[in-house]
Amino acid sequence: MLPAPTAESKDYWTGGRNGELLVHRCHTCNKFFLPGAPACWRCQSTDVAPEPVSGRGTVAAYTVNRQTWIPAFPPPYTVALIELADQPDTRVVSNIVDIDPADVTVGLEVEVFFEEWEDVWIPLFRPVKESN
Ligand SMILES: [Zn+2]
Repeated sequence: MLPAPTAESKDYWTGGRNGELLVHRCHTCNKFFLPGAPACWRCQSTDVAPEPVSGRGTVAAYTVNRQTWIPAFPPPYTVALIELADQPDTRVVSNIVDIDPADVTVGLEVEVFFEEWEDVWIPLFRPVKESN
């Protein structure tokens, strides 16, 4: 069930080694895009490279999964579409953890953290902790 990184998605799955969520960015139109690809889907530029993003975002949509797909995540757990704070039209699908699935809402502010599994650093999201 582990993701098999390709040349284009390798950075996304291994940036967590350095605590970074790496997302491809086009240097022609300056937009982030996912999934990583050799060319920007907006402007077809091939001047693209992965860059670290803030790792902050908000839940745009979510579903509560009640079946076991990944042994590490016993159900129920929340799978969400997360809009990155860096660029709201760039969305990541991931799990929301450290929160009861019943308490997840659209607009919930979340932040990335990583779980290492056999040389893959899986980006997961949890609610942003209030700083004081
Ligand atoms: Zn572009």
